[in-house]
Parts: sequence; structure tokens; C-alpha cells
Amino acid sequence: MIERILYVAHDHLNRHRGVLKSANLDSDLIVLVESARMTSGRPWHPERLFFLISAARHFAAELESEGFQVRYLKAATTIDGLKQVRADFGDLPIHSAEPSSFKQLEQLREFGVTFTPNDFFLTSRPDFKLWADRQKTFVMENFYRAQRVRLGIMVTAGEPDGGRWNFDADNRLPPPKNYTWPAYLEHNRDEIDRQVAAEVQAITGLVPDAESWQPTNTWATTRAGALAQLAYFIEHHLAGFGPYEDAIAGDNWALHHSLLSPYLNNGLLHADEVIRAVLTAYRAGAPIGSVEAFVRQVIGWREYINGMYWFLGPEYREKNELGATRKLLPLFTDSSKTKMACVKQVVGDVETRAWAHHIPRLMVLSNLALVTGTNPQEFLDWMREQFIDAAEWVMVPNIIGMATHADGGQLMTKPYAAGGAYLNKMTQSCKGCAYDPKKRVGEDACPFTTLYWDFLDRHRDRFVTNHRMSQQIFGLNRLSDLPELRVRAQQVLEGLDAGEI
Ligand SMILES: Cc1cc2nc3c(=O)[nH]c(=O)nc-3n(C[C@H](O)[C@H](O)[C@H](O)COP(=O)(O)OP(=O)(O)OC[C@H]3O[C@@H](n4cnc5c(N)ncnc54)[C@H](O)[C@@H]3O)c2cc1C
Ligand code: SF4
Repeated sequence: MIERILYVAHDHLNRHRGVLKSANLDSDLIVLVESARMTSGRPWHPERLFFLISAARHFAAELESEGFQVRYLKAATTIDGLKQVRADFGDLPIHSAEPSSFKQLEQLREFGVTFTPNDFFLTSRPDFKLWADRQKTFVMENFYRAQRVRLGIMVTAGEPDGGRWNFDADNRLPPPKNYTWPAYLEHNRDEIDRQVAAEVQAITGLVPDAESWQPTNTWATTRAGALAQLAYFIEHHLAGFGPYEDAIAGDNWALHHSLLSPYLNNGLLHADEVIRAVLTAYRAGAPIGSVEAFVRQVIGWREYINGMYWFLGPEYREKNELGATRKLLPLFTDSSKTKMACVKQVVGDVETRAWAHHIPRLMVLSNLALVTGTNPQEFLDWMREQFIDAAEWVMVPNIIGMATHADGGQLMTKPYAAGGAYLNKMTQSCKGCAYDPKKRVGEDACPFTTLYWDFLDRHRDRFVTNHRMSQQIFGLNRLSDLPELRVRAQQVLEGLDAGEI
């Protein structure tokens, strides 16, 4: 006899977390809803849609084979799906873990759903608020150190292992030459995957070349596959993670990154088990610089971003303090619309796998959106649609705060704007590019270099009072070719709008 409906969102696919912790084989009905809004409401990247749907369908099948009663249904919206279940099973109470976005929280609350606290992170929302309420500025490094101590990770008597909290100075190397990158794990497809791939192909307008489109073998769609990815990362990539974590290689798309974010974000893996596995490797001899760099990402950045999303509130998404109004550049939706080699490479990678690591996201895609004055919400929507691991809680602070400075510095004290010199050091793209990273004026000037200075010039009044920007503003004041640069910047912006730069 069914007594409760347990609603499991597509990003809560974890048997031991959220509402499933208390699931009862005899008296609970588990419901997953594939809403039309989720599948065809926006031009989602097919790889992303395939991953999210197939993982949820595999998860539902696993629950069924455990003996649970499961309804996986399609409906116009989640609420319509839940109404349908109530129509079939009676007006039963519905329970769910707290959703991971303001919007869904509000919708389910209005529908009368009872919430279980969201335990898909290492830091609860109330605990994060306790930390944030005590801060004058929200410096991630301070949060990270507090996390290390609170969670007892690589600390003894309050002191960090190796005498340092941070091994960044040893990392951040440029891409290596003549280096052999280990291969990446490929995930085989089964019948559920094939069925989902066919359905994704059939969603009108989503896949340009529908008949030939197939998902790559990059992303696992089961818990077993996600665990295999974790084990593979630890065995083949963890040791090299730190040194090249910020580099963009010409001959490799993922370097030593873990490729674990999709599973951490949809529930197939929990940060706790990822960190425990990495610390086991550390005790077995994995180098401290790489282990610390990875731990920082997971217990630091990931938890901080989620905490800040909830702390800053729903209005934060709409911020546009730099008054950026440009429409999304055509090159973002079509990599053939640019001659900028670094951008073409990164957008091409996203087109293929719906993924790029944090530096291409920040210093290529977002940097371009920032220096061109692209509207942050348009850019956010595009990133949200394209990336395999995107979700509101993670994209909003990363884009509005870190990437486009649209919050005026609430999260990061200075904007992540950079010219061609930085990209020339950290990528291998400039040699084969139509542009010259050293030039800021002239037909072959690197668009990043031109627009970096133009961005500082346009926002000079704002940044002149920011002590972390004083060196850049000082540099700007010494430019002898500023009038010429302003003219070139206009040409570059028009060329980018036309898809010709
Ligand atoms: C502009 C921008 C947008 C981003 N959007 C997303 C997003 O939509 N979803 C997402 O999961 N990550 C996002 N990130 C963070 C980061 O780029 C990805 O988590 C990472 O590239 C995923 O690949 P990986 O699993 O191999 O990561 P690794 O480099 O192996 O890092 C390990 C883990 O650390 C976590 N992590 C590291 N940095 C962040 C961060 N800034 N925010 C949240 N988690 C972090 C991720 O869970 C990641 O799996 C964004 C970063 C930037 C700069
Ligand atoms: S020259 Fe400029 S546009 Fe070309 S690859 Fe280098 S940084 Fe990118």
C-alpha cells in the first residue's frame, strides 16, 4: 500500500542521499519527471540532454531492480507530472530533497512538497550562511582553509600538511611540449543509452545533423561508470593534476582534469566519496601539490559556489553592474564564425563534448564575453545550455560573479580580464593564429589584446579606485596609441558581431 510519493529530481540521483535515505520498499512510490521544459524548452546541447536523461533512466531502472515501485514519466512540467501521479495514486504526501535552484524550490513549495535538507554537498546551506555572515569580504581562500580544518583534511593540530595551505605557486605551468597524455576512459553505450540518443535526435531543431548525431563515449550514464571514472582519474591523472591545471594544450582537450563534475552535480557521486578516494591515494604517495590542488576544487570552490548561490539570493542572477549590453557573439554558437584560434579551439571542444576545463571557461570564453561587454545574462544562458555540468546553482555565481564581474565585485575583487600575452603563455594556439598576441593595434592585432585595453579604458573610472587594478590602470595611462586603439577596438567589436574576426 503506497503511503508516500518520493520525488527525485534529475540532479539527485543518489540512493543514499536526499529523500531516498528514508525510502521504504513497501510504502513509497519513487517518482522521476522528465519535463518537456527540461528537454525542449531551450536549445540544450544534445550531449548534455543525453547525459542527464540517460543517467536518470538508468537510475530509475536500478531502483526498480532493488525492488522499489518507480514511476518515470514525461510531462509538460514537473508539477504536471506530480499532479498526474496524484491522479493515479491518490492525494498522497510528496517528499523531496530541497531542490538545487530557487525556482524549483519555490515551485515545489507552492505545490505543498515536504523537503528533506539537501545533503548533496559537504556544507549545509545553514552552515555556509554562518560562515558568510561573519565575513567582510567573501574570499574563497578563507572559506577553503576553514573547510580543511572543519573537515579534518590534510591538517594536523590546525596546521596544513607540508606547511602550506596552497601549492598554486608550484602549479599553473604552461602546457608542456612533447608530453604524453594518458588516454581518457571511454564509456560503452547500452540499450537505454541508445533509446535516449534516438529521442534526443528527434527533438526538433536540437541536433543540426540529426541522423548522424551520436553521443560521444566521454560521459558515463550509470553509477558504476561514474565510479570507474573516479578510479581512472586517481590512477592515471591525479599525480599530474596540479602542475597543468591552468594550461590549455593544443594536443589534448582535458589534460589531467578529472571529468567528474557531471556526476558530482547529478548525484551519481558525492564529494565525500571523491575526497576519501583521493586522500587514500595521498596516503599511498600521490604528490601533495596535486592532491591539495584537487581537494581545493572540491571542498573549496565547489562548496563555496553552492553556498554563495544560496547566500546571495535569487536577484543576484540579474546583476549587470558593468552595464554590458552586447548581444551574444555568433562565434559562441558556431565556431566557424571566428578566426581567433584559441576561441575556435575551445568553442569546438564545447560543440563536441559539452565540456572545457575551468581555464578555457574563464580565460577564453568568459574573458571574451567580459571584454566585449556581452550581456551577462545572455552569456549565462548560453553557458547553461551548452555545458554538461551546468546548473543554476553553479553557473550563476561562476558567471555573474567570477567570470563577468557583473556583480561589481561582490565575489571577486577584480575582473578576470586578460590580453593575448596571458593566452600566449597558457595556450598553444597563438602560433597558428591569424592574429598576433603582442599587437594591440593594426589589422592583425590580437582581439584579446585590443579589447583588454579597451575594456580598462571604458571602465577606467570604476577600476581606478580598486587597489588590485592599479597596476593595470597605470599601464593604460602609459599607452601612447590609445586613440588608435579605441578605433581598432570598434572595428574588432563590429567584426566579432558580424562573425568575421
Ligand atoms: C565561467 C565558469 C563556469 C563554470 N561553470 C560550471 C558549471 O556549470 N558546473 C560545474 O560543475 N563547474 C563549473 N565551473 C567550474 C569548473 O570549470 C568545472 O567544475 C570543471 O571544469 C569540471 O571539470 P572537472 O570535473 O574535470 O574538474 P576538475 O578540474 O577535475 O576539478 C574537480 C572538481 O572541482 C569542482 N570545481 C572546481 N571549480 C569549481 C567552481 N568554480 N565551481 C564549482 N565547482 C568547481 C568541480 O566539481 C570539479 O569536478 C565553471 C567555472 C567557470 C570559470
Ligand atoms: S593571437 Fe589572440 S586570438 Fe589568436 S590564439 Fe592568441 S590569444 Fe587567441
